[in-house]
Amino acid sequence: MSNYDLSSEELQRYDRHIILDEIGQEGQQKLKESSVLIVGAGGLGSPVAYYLAAVGIGCIGIIDFDEIELSNLQRQILHSTSNIGSFKVDSAEKSLKALNPNLDIITYQASLKTDNVEDLVMRYDIVINCVDNFASRYLINDACVSNNIPLIEAGVLGFEGQVMVIIPGKGPCYRCIFPESSKQGRISADKEIGVLGAVAGTIGTLQATEAIKYLLGIGELLFSKLLIYDALHASFRKVELKANPRCPICGDDSSITELNN
Ligand SMILES: [Zn+2]
Repeated sequence: MSNYDLSSEELQRYDRHIILDEIGQEGQQKLKESSVLIVGAGGLGSPVAYYLAAVGIGCIGIIDFDEIELSNLQRQILHSTSNIGSFKVDSAEKSLKALNPNLDIITYQASLKTDNVEDLVMRYDIVINCVDNFASRYLINDACVSNNIPLIEAGVLGFEGQVMVIIPGKGPCYRCIFPESSKQGRISADKEIGVLGAVAGTIGTLQATEAIKYLLGIGELLFSKLLIYDALHASFRKVELKANPRCPICGDDSSITELNN
């Protein structure tokens, strides 16, 4: 008798995981019992959501307020031409259910704000940041750090992308590395940026992989490190990161006690 609550359909579906020593039925069961919140159903959120659904994460939350536009489709592969004008969360739910009907997909057609962010992140085991503006990055970072929820942060621009894993209390947070006063922190949220769709695919896939590793407790996480991908030169490099003792959210005498954006 197995101690695991995996149906014969699930055993077949996840066979290529189950035969891996690092996963097995025990790991597959852990994934089934896990919950992940994906913030943003766009260029990064698409590969993240697809892989997490394929891999069998039992509960996937997706928050996005936006509707699908034609110019989204070169990178936002959750959505199709026939879905233009619909809400991204609705199209995401349909695509993910078609791939794997066993999962709970919870959608929130909303923006993350100071009054809903903490309540939402606390319902999940880990949060994956797939947003495209700095105000939301700081807001999500602060909510996750304050509530001790791990966060996988990433960004893409042109032919480059970067990823870091934030484990609150154990290493640097987003604000430690990119203080709000820095040049990057001031880039306008509304400014349109170009990005090669496939680069978002690579970076989102890395985010999903780190989340799966975290949930399974396997391997070495991209923790206290920033991984930078340069697609034009086909190169990856890792930069060691250190927490800033004067960080306003995770530092010794943190000055941010209430979230604002
Ligand atoms: Zn910090």
